Amino acid sequence: MKHRIDQLAETHRLTREDCLALLRHRDEDTTAYLKEKAVAVRKQYFGNTVYVRGLIEFSNYCKNDCYYCGIRRSNAKAVRYRLTKEQILECCELGYGLGFRTFVLQGGEDGFFTDDKMVNIIHEIREGYPDCAITLSLGERERDSYQRFFDAGANRYLLRHETATPTHYASLHPKNLTLEKRKECLYALKEIGFQVGTGFMVGSPGQTLEHLAEDLMFIQQFQPQMVGLGPFIPHQDTKYAQESSGTVELTTFLLAMVRLLLPNVLLPSTTALGTIDPMGRERGIEAGANVVMPNLSPVSVRKNYALYDNKICTGDEAAECRMCLQHRMESIGYELVTQRGDFVPIT
Ligand code: SAM
Repeated sequence: MKHRIDQLAETHRLTREDCLALLRHRDEDTTAYLKEKAVAVRKQYFGNTVYVRGLIEFSNYCKNDCYYCGIRRSNAKAVRYRLTKEQILECCELGYGLGFRTFVLQGGEDGFFTDDKMVNIIHEIREGYPDCAITLSLGERERDSYQRFFDAGANRYLLRHETATPTHYASLHPKNLTLEKRKECLYALKEIGFQVGTGFMVGSPGQTLEHLAEDLMFIQQFQPQMVGLGPFIPHQDTKYAQESSGTVELTTFLLAMVRLLLPNVLLPSTTALGTIDPMGRERGIEAGANVVMPNLSPVSVRKNYALYDNKICTGDEAAECRMCLQHRMESIGYELVTQRGDFVPIT
């Protein structure tokens, strides 16, 4: 397997065959070698720095019914909330004081937040914090809406493709949601000029190694600036309540593969990874990730943004989360930095 890893590290290209071979032969030696190479590439581009993003989960209302998600429309047990514009701006103020220079506005697909309302919120953040990046993660909207958000001052957009295999996509989502539409949104976002993040859950119900190979092939083709990749974790009020979570081993293996495929990509070590393993976020960084996204949402609503069970950090103040992550990163020889951390193309 080493020659395949060497080739990937040198060319940053992967055939489907190589991809599958690596995924099928994940023994200890292969894993150690892959991660060593991924960390070397990560250090070449980012040194030992870790970028930090302040996550504001501003609404858990959602019109969609993704079968795996705890805030899906038909989960009548979810306690719904939405933050006001003032609350969102308070999160930014708090975050700015703590050194955050990227704000990530994430929410369910909530019709309350019309394009006009979003544009107004983006404008205000842009005016108040001209030196900060604004990242949106609001799901699927029309191209014109994305354009208006971009024109209002948003810089980045996160929209995971979830799985690049149409049949698998159809097994995880109701009929009105399609992979085709998702890809259409992703290409529109890129054309408009957003730094775009896509990605997928690891270990989602029914996922095979062939599906994962397809995900990496799509990422290679799409060339996103960010990749969001974390384990699937069951939620008690979904039909997948009894399924197993994705594993740290496979998730970190894939993080390392993505780092070698896209050497300068912005790659978070996710909260979901920290949820399935107390050292998950550290292990993600040690596999080549270079971003962490502590929560900036008011503690009073945190536990209600429950995409999956046992989510960590739902009781901690933003300052605590930030300090905790800083210590965690320092404990493994990395440094949390306050730069905006934009994507820098390879020249
Ligand atoms: N509505 C936006 C969207 O669809 O992109 C943003 C919110 S959505 C809840 C954010 C991400 O949460 C999804 O892309 C999905 O990958 C992840 N997610 C949802 N349910 C999950 C679960 N049970 N385990 C792990 N991740 C989950």
